[in-house]
This record gives sequence, structure tokens and C-alpha cells, in this order.
Amino acid sequence: MATEINGWTAPAREVLRVTTSTRIAEVDAGATPGFDGDKQLGSALLEERGARLSALQELLYANGRIGDHRSVLLVLQGMDTAGKGGIVRHVIGHVDPQGVDHAAFGSPTEEELRHHYLWRIEKALPRGGQLGVFDRSHYEDVLVVRVHELVPADVWGARYQEIVDFEDRLVDTGTTVVKVLLAVSKEEQKRRLAQRLRRPDKYWKYDRRDLDERALWPDYEQAYQAVLDRTSTERAPWFVVPCDRKWYARLAVTELLIDALEGLELSWPPAHFDVEAERLRLERS
Ligand code: AMP
Ligand code: MG
Repeated sequence: MATEINGWTAPAREVLRVTTSTRIAEVDAGATPGFDGDKQLGSALLEERGARLSALQELLYANGRIGDHRSVLLVLQGMDTAGKGGIVRHVIGHVDPQGVDHAAFGSPTEEELRHHYLWRIEKALPRGGQLGVFDRSHYEDVLVVRVHELVPADVWGARYQEIVDFEDRLVDTGTTVVKVLLAVSKEEQKRRLAQRLRRPDKYWKYDRRDLDERALWPDYEQAYQAVLDRTSTERAPWFVVPCDRKWYARLAVTELLIDALEGLELSWPPAHFDVEAERLRLERS
């Protein structure tokens, strides 16, 4: 029996986790899986859970300072306008920026193109004690690259297993990988693009190429489906987060991160000095 805690009827990690029957084209991007509340409750809860996330991140950071090499990596993927930047701002925004290793991946530079596609990814991995955030990621190398045939099919085709192996190594070496596909509907994308064309404060976000990508929606759906089918593993599962309602996506990603951090079972590092002696020293000073 599911218990209702502040609007959640089931844990986000359970309702959002990809299964073998997940079909990205059939996901209801306007839904709020596992959450019974409305926007008002969701937004209020986000503040509360954001504080919890922040406390857990501080624990991670504190342990990193004493040599714990573990880290958490949030991988954000999604079509243009899905709200990757909003997640960074409104979810990651709750934690101390010093503890965040953030990286955004756009079209590779000339130098990056001369290297293996994982080269720039490895360089951006979170350090021990850090919360890493990837706004786009190595998955672009089987998404945009596949859709636009930027490399031959046998090359991108080999990458799924390579990515699985790569993430397996990450997990082995202490990084908890949380992979989130933000699912926006095609209609909602149109509304968000229209807003970018209507509001002067949004013009800067408008990219003419977004409409070219939008025209390839079915190809992207197919490419995303392959990602879910071939790279959602026990150790590094994908979560599909409906994001037509931004407040829900933010709340859900917060829960996924809290869950990942709680899984590390961290406690405050013990004092590396004689507490009593230091208190005395301070008193006499
Ligand atoms: P944005 O996230 O709006 O800054 O856009 C970044 C752009 O870079 C998107 O159009 C991505 O598809 C593109 N991009 C990211 N990674 C790659 C890659 N490995 N190869 C080609 N294009 C990429
Ligand atoms: Mg863009």
C-alpha cells in the first residue's frame, strides 16, 4: 500500500524509473506520476525538499573534504525547451554552488572533435564530494549525432555498449549516476518557443535551429527510445520525468537526488582533533 507523504503517493524513483515497456512516444508529459497535489503544494514542498537536498549535499561535501571520493552525477537530457536550465536553477539552485561541478555540453569544439567523444565528458566528471550536473552529456553522441548522421551508423551504434561500460566504471569508482530524461510534449514545446518569440527577455534563448530539430521530432523519439532500451541499467537507470508542468519536474528531480544522496548513508565526519583540548585552548585565548 502506498502511503501519502505530502502529496507523494509513491516514491519518484519507482514511478519514474524506465522499464522494458517504457515507450517515450506514449509518455504523458503533462502528468504528475506519483504526486497527488497541485502546483501550490508542489511548489511549497519544493522549498522544503530543497532544504533537505542542501543538507545532504553539505554532508557529501564534508565527507569529500576528508577524502571520501564518492560523488553524485545528475545527467540531464531532453528536447529543446524541456527545462534543463530550469532544473539547474531551481533544483541545483538550492545547494551551495561550491559543492557543484556543473558542465553544459554543446556542439563539440574543433579540439574536442579531435578526441574520443568521452574525452570532454571525463574531464568534466565530478570530483569526490561534489554534486555533478551535466546539462546534455555523452548521450548527445547517440542522439543529435544519430539523428543527423554526423558519424556512420556503425560508429554511433557501438556507442550504446560503450556508454554502458563507461557508466559501469563510474559507478565502480564511487559515482552515483542519476539519468533524467525530461519529457516535454510537442505542443508544450511550441508554447515555450512561442513565448521565446513573444517576450524580449526570452529572445536570447531562441535558437533558430530549434525549429529544425523540432521538425525531426519522430527521429528524436526513436533515438531517445534506443537510449532508454539500451542504456538503462540496474546500476545506472534512466528516469523519465514529465515536464510540461515545470513545478512537477523540479520536485521530482529533487526527490531523485535526495534518494541518491541518502543511498550513500553519509554521516558527519568525526573531529580530526581533540575537541576538549581545543575548547580549553579557545577558552584561554
Ligand atoms: P543548448 O543546450 O541549447 O545550448 O544547445 C546545445 C546544442 O549542442 C544542441 O543543439 C545539441 O544538440 C548540440 N550538441 C551537444 N552535444 C553535441 C554533440 N556531441 N554533437 C553535436 N551536437 C551536439
Ligand atoms: Mg537551446
